[in-house]
Amino acid sequence: MRDWFERLFAGRQGMDELSKALFWVSLPGLLLSGLLALLSPGLGGILSWLGLFLLIYAFIRAFSRQTARREAENALYLRWLGGRKRAFRAFLDRRRQSKDFRFFKCPGCGTMLRVPRHKGKIHIRCKCGYVLYRKT
Ligand SMILES: [Zn+2]
Repeated sequence: MRDWFERLFAGRQGMDELSKALFWVSLPGLLLSGLLALLSPGLGGILSWLGLFLLIYAFIRAFSRQTARREAENALYLRWLGGRKRAFRAFLDRRRQSKDFRFFKCPGCGTMLRVPRHKGKIHIRCKCGYVLYRKT
């Protein structure tokens, strides 16, 4: 059984992170669309086609022999995922500190600026030179 499985995926991409993600999004999607189809056949239909498409795409990727291209897709996905995770962690971090600090995004460079709360209206100078006047 294991030999058969290994031979099946010899020279193929196999289930990489992107295919796994597609798989785990498509399954609940299909289930949900089945329930939704009872209420709204149109929307449920679209969603089930989308779920089916993702599921098939996951398997096409897993059985693909063009491993270099699949590897590049997977790397792109992992980079995107890393960015989302970082942004989410930063968001949690800001929320944890929100009792004592306020956060402003610099309109000049996009840097997140942290200032203590309850200081009234203050001028905030960013490293890039931009000055904001905000209520804390
Ligand atoms: Zn700035």
